Amino acid sequence: MRKFIPFAVAIALLALPFSFHNDYLLRLINVGIIYAILAVSLNFVLGYAGQISLGHAGFFGIGAYTAAILSHGGSGMLFWPGFVLAGVMAGIAGIIIGVPALRLKGHYLAFGTLGFGEIIRIVLFNWREVTHGGDGIGAIPPPVAFGFQFDTDQKYYYLCIAVLLFVLALARRTETSKYGRSFAALRDAEMAAGTTGVNVTRMKILAFVISSVIAGCAGSLYAHLVGFISPDTFTFEVTAQVLSMVLLGGMGTMFGPVLGAIFIIMLPEVLRVSKEYYQVIYGAGVAFAVLFLPEGFLGLLKGRKAVRVPSLGEGGQVDELSINDPSIDLLRPIRQVNDTKPAQGVMLSIDHLTCRFGGLIAINDLSMTVRAGTVHALIGPNGAGKSTFINLVSGVYTPEPNTMTFDGRKLQPTASWNLADLGIARTFQNLRSFHSLTVMENVLVGCRSPKRAGWTSVMLGTPAAVAEESDLHETAKAALRFVGLWNVRDIQVSALPHEQQRLVEIARALAMRPKMILLDEPAAGMNPTEVERLVGYIQKMKAIGITVVIVEHNMPFVMKIADDITVLNFGKKIADGVPAAIRSNPEVISAYLGKRGVAKDVQNVVA
Ligand code: ADP
Ligand code: MG
Repeated sequence: MRKFIPFAVAIALLALPFSFHNDYLLRLINVGIIYAILAVSLNFVLGYAGQISLGHAGFFGIGAYTAAILSHGGSGMLFWPGFVLAGVMAGIAGIIIGVPALRLKGHYLAFGTLGFGEIIRIVLFNWREVTHGGDGIGAIPPPVAFGFQFDTDQKYYYLCIAVLLFVLALARRTETSKYGRSFAALRDAEMAAGTTGVNVTRMKILAFVISSVIAGCAGSLYAHLVGFISPDTFTFEVTAQVLSMVLLGGMGTMFGPVLGAIFIIMLPEVLRVSKEYYQVIYGAGVAFAVLFLPEGFLGLLKGRKAVRVPSLGEGGQVDELSINDPSIDLLRPIRQVNDTKPAQGVMLSIDHLTCRFGGLIAINDLSMTVRAGTVHALIGPNGAGKSTFINLVSGVYTPEPNTMTFDGRKLQPTASWNLADLGIARTFQNLRSFHSLTVMENVLVGCRSPKRAGWTSVMLGTPAAVAEESDLHETAKAALRFVGLWNVRDIQVSALPHEQQRLVEIARALAMRPKMILLDEPAAGMNPTEVERLVGYIQKMKAIGITVVIVEHNMPFVMKIADDITVLNFGKKIADGVPAAIRSNPEVISAYLGKRGVAKDVQNVVA
């Protein structure tokens, strides 16, 4: 049955213009489709990448004016170059807006983009030589293709629908590709996206560019439909309408913006029968939707069915990747693919590292080395600077220059995704999952393949892109099996208990095939059985040549797995050495383990 739905929809779409002989209604439908295209385009920035943009009327206006200036008073053949140029011009504006937008967040970004939209309108008004100012530009011819004129609303409809379907196809491809996952990662947890290797800068600019190019093309469609445009067409009201379409229909969904567009454009018409009251009813309807449908219309459809989280061992044993399984090679540090010798010597060397927050010195002149291929524990009381250390090494905070050497290479301050590319992965003390994604998708964000397919290739679904995606899935599968989570791969990650979300973060980090992995209190909240499993995973990591740095309070756990231990107190290193030496170090005992002795403390920690 479901197979016929697309056919039925296609026939309905084809037949639609013939069911009306009312020019007004046809025009309304065409304008509605153009608005739907705009809404889908806004959804790329707002829904997928989670960046607020209130300048959409600006991109729409740039596209419309580009098309109008090129072809007014001329031939309808100019529609086509104008359509492309409209997209290009708006896309350039998108980059100009996208770059400063990198520095802005939340309402600052909202104000910035709002200002952009307003500036465009003012320029359109005042640059009279080019835009004819308030008089607007008329005599924009209907498009012509192969001698066929799109000169009625009935014909124009097919042009609009074709563009809408194309744009929806782009949205669909985006959602199901690595680009969609990276956008979602950025939207859900920007910091974790960066440390997982997502180039946050590039993804933000990409979202703005895709969005503005489409809005520009929609502008050209609009100009050629109505034949006359003026600056008054591209006010904030347009942005507000498009924004309500996205919010009402369902942000971040493929069809949501289209539903929203149909609703916002059609509802006033439907309600017009009850003349005086229609605005009241319309307003009340919108208010109702905003209050009671926080996820839009499409939110009504999903999330109703309760997710059942299968227990990890369902159907027998937990499926855990053993060290002898050939798939384990998929997780070895990338450098070691053809060179199974583990790295030798020093993996990380820290040289006089200091980090201040105002007057507080969180890391105080720290020097230490982490030997390659070992498990190195970092311990110390709360507030000692352990998480700060991990933040510095993973690029979340910016260290001073020349304080770190990683795998023989001096590191200079750089973005976290560049460090991820070099082979540094981490997990977070406070969970930072990409909560709207499934377990599998979370891990896929961390996966890389040498067959890197570009954006065009992914959108076209070329064999190269398909091959890359299948590589990514193989790696993700191995990483999930490594921590015994393969069973729950299709569950939305936020539905999992916290301990399992921690394991998802570990799998996500492993999928990056790092040389070194930094685990910030991975056992927090785990029961003894789970801790026992975690010990196994860490030993497996070490066995495949990954250097592990672990922050942990659970002393028996630390003593069991650590090759070396560094103890911090108030940001200063107070001891380092092998576990036996640390256990009996008087300074460590008084600062951290407690005067009563280790044995007591160990009991306390376990209890
Ligand atoms: P630990 O992980 O060892 O418990 P942290 O590294 O989280 O300790 O914190 C060390 C000290 O630095 C604490 O006093 C903490 O309040 C402070 N600190 C950490 N991050 C920041 C920050 N972003 N801004 C200000 N102070 C911070
Ligand atoms: Mg901490």
